[in-house]
Amino acid sequence: MVKRQFGHRVRLVLPPDQVAALNAQAHAARALWNLLHDWWTMMPRRLRSLAAAEAAIRQARSDIDWLAVLPAQAAQAVLKTYMKAWRNCWEGRAEAPAFKARLRTVMSVDIPQGRDLHVKRVHRRWGMVNIPKMGRVRFRWTKNLPVGKHANTGNRITGARLVKDALGWHLAFRIQVLEVEPEPHAGPEVGIDVGVNISLALSDGNHHSHGRPARTKDARTDRDKWLNDNEKARLLELECRAAHRKSFGKPGQGTSRRLQRTYDQIARLRARAKRRAVDWQHKTTTLLADQYSVIVVEDLHIPAMVASARGTLQEPGRNVAQKAGLNRSITQEAWGRTLVMLTYKTAQRGGALRKVPAPGTSLRCSACGLTSPGSRRSQARFACKNTGCGWEGNADHNAARNILHLYQTGHPLVPAAGRAVVRRARRVKPATAR
Ligand SMILES: [Zn+2]
Repeated sequence: MVKRQFGHRVRLVLPPDQVAALNAQAHAARALWNLLHDWWTMMPRRLRSLAAAEAAIRQARSDIDWLAVLPAQAAQAVLKTYMKAWRNCWEGRAEAPAFKARLRTVMSVDIPQGRDLHVKRVHRRWGMVNIPKMGRVRFRWTKNLPVGKHANTGNRITGARLVKDALGWHLAFRIQVLEVEPEPHAGPEVGIDVGVNISLALSDGNHHSHGRPARTKDARTDRDKWLNDNEKARLLELECRAAHRKSFGKPGQGTSRRLQRTYDQIARLRARAKRRAVDWQHKTTTLLADQYSVIVVEDLHIPAMVASARGTLQEPGRNVAQKAGLNRSITQEAWGRTLVMLTYKTAQRGGALRKVPAPGTSLRCSACGLTSPGSRRSQARFACKNTGCGWEGNADHNAARNILHLYQTGHPLVPAAGRAVVRRARRVKPATAR
């Protein structure tokens, strides 16, 4: 038996008063973080300790009444997350924790203990969950969760986290299950290249395209592909409206309510596109993990500039689009998510994901193995210039064949990390617009 831990995200069905109550909890959690950060950075080093921090939090919760809307467990979780942020900093994985600004912080509340949740299935399609200090809330039942008579010490919900995005409040469960170790997968091996034209090109000639094919040239970003023509027109209209409203703003003046409402509408459309993209990725990766035993991908490195401009979930960077190119950052983000999904889905089915460092895969011919100048005809076509070979095909498909070849010929391999921690580089000065 092997222990497996995973998350499951559900959207909560909340009336407006409960949305307001959760917003208040999230703001209290953020305020508590800021108070804690203040306390920690002002305190002399010899007086800083976990116990002293706990006492300070208790004091703050009794002195400031609006902090009391936050459940005690969630307040404890804020301290735990804060200490973890410092540990990540001391061990070189992240920058020092900082203040959380109201408009730039993802709203979230921790529910660290699974037993507080009392998850129950009430209908074929609906479940109920208990949110501390709020009560029972309905959610869509889309996955069998280990609750009721299915729950035991090996299989259970260990905790959850409430997260708000542009589409509303969600609950992300942390789940732990015991599973029989899978038999080795008997399927074939496959190489995959992530391309611009064909999103996932497979070495056996198949491909999985990403979203709707861009019919018009105005599909400016990858995310736009997931919207239909009406939605795209609406997005453009909203963006124009936001730009127009912004042009009336004076320096030092905050965002007006009207402008903020337009920004919220834009965010909702973008979140809808992202939800569709994630849905496609889940379906595609499940299909691939079912079919193939070993999936080989190129070991790509996310450029430090994209990583640093994007910031972290707690502290997103500003003007990421201008700094790193929206297109690239979204493609990279999506590719990272695909790899995470492939890693756990292949492992679950007895297969594996492998990464090979594969420079020049797009230039080498996969039939004769030679890199002849001019073989890559265009972004999409590859035709070998080597006399006596003349292999022709899709350029992404050619790269995928090369990647599989490198793996099968025992090229030095880099083990595929489950959730690779991307070491954040120093903040790079944004490149000036060209
Ligand atoms: Zn050739």
